Amino acid sequence: MKIGIVGCVGRMGRMLINAIDQTPDAELAGGTERAGSPAVGEDPAMVAGLSASGLIIGDDPRALFEIADAVVDFTAPEATAAHAKLALETGTALVPGTTGLSAQQQAAIDAAAEKVAVVQAANYSVGVNLLLGLTEQAAAILGDDYDIEILEMHHRHKVDAPSGTALALGQAAASGRQVDLDKVAQRVRDGHTGERNVGDIGFATLRGGMVVGDHTVMFAADQERIELTHKASDRAVFAKGAIRAALWTKGQAPGLYSMRDVLGFS
Ligand code: NAD
Repeated sequence: MKIGIVGCVGRMGRMLINAIDQTPDAELAGGTERAGSPAVGEDPAMVAGLSASGLIIGDDPRALFEIADAVVDFTAPEATAAHAKLALETGTALVPGTTGLSAQQQAAIDAAAEKVAVVQAANYSVGVNLLLGLTEQAAAILGDDYDIEILEMHHRHKVDAPSGTALALGQAAASGRQVDLDKVAQRVRDGHTGERNVGDIGFATLRGGMVVGDHTVMFAADQERIELTHKASDRAVFAKGAIRAALWTKGQAPGLYSMRDVLGFS
């Protein structure tokens, strides 16, 4: 299967090229970067630390969508919305990993999913998808006397907060409790906040160093505390999962799928 990587020089982009190289059924269709990037014109495999592929990094994503069977996108929110439109127009499957999308940018992905298979996940690792299921189950079993708090830490370069994975964990907890996350989420606390409301789902964000991604979901009651934790130690785990998702799109009907569908957890 021919897989295109948009934003192929980014931290995830280079990992994705390596993951394709290690996957027998996958072939790199090509890579793009934003217009004006010094990487345009270079060999995407060499940029990822591999031997020459004979391909050249372009800045025309439409040309890549036209030749690829699926495109994997870990770029930036505006770029991902534009790429979703191209997936719709060219009929190419899409794996959009970018986080921090606005409602309008998400709508572009939802629209593409009407015509092509899209696998969108805040986190493509097997472990986090298991954690999502466990969080939903624990929240359904434990009542409101267990306060739910979600703690995440990422490297200093991350630009959105809370992380997409933390929000997905919040969504899983809210689904377990059968409540609307938007009504109970406390995304930030600062100053004289007053006491915690019963039923809130709180978030805390840490940034620093090169932390790939740590997430803990806490259920805190008066006399006990349950903590479910996942720690990613290498972002290759996300790249491997995203390439697995891209391969899975082959032969799938149009629709918006999650990593839980790919892994058979749903
Ligand atoms: P990064 O900044 O290292 O890489 C992004 C790349 O996209 C850059 O090379 C940039 O030049 C390129 N880019 C930007 N606009 C473009 C455009 N219009 N066309 C082509 N390329 C363009 O960032 P990163 O650490 O690789 O993360 C990228 C995104 O992926 C972030 O939103 C991050 O939160 C998300 N992410 C998701 C997961 C997951 O499992 N879902 C895991 C890691 C990162």
